[in-house]
Amino acid sequence: MSRASTSTNTARCAVCDEVETRESPFVAVMTETRGRHAWLHAGACHERYREEVAVTMRELAKGKVAG
Ligand SMILES: [Zn+2]
Repeated sequence: MSRASTSTNTARCAVCDEVETRESPFVAVMTETRGRHAWLHAGACHERYREEVAVTMRELAKGKVAG
């Protein structure tokens, strides 16, 4: 019988680098790399991630690209 470690998700949160727990389930988010996704804790981590994406978008909109 080898049903020892049957974890549903061995990935780590892209924001806080912790594993999924019963209290903090993961949500999948798309990344800039096509066809790939990252795992984040639903709630705080997800919101922080979305904020960071928003900041990046704002920076790009400002035309910070040289040239
Ligand atoms: Zn997290």
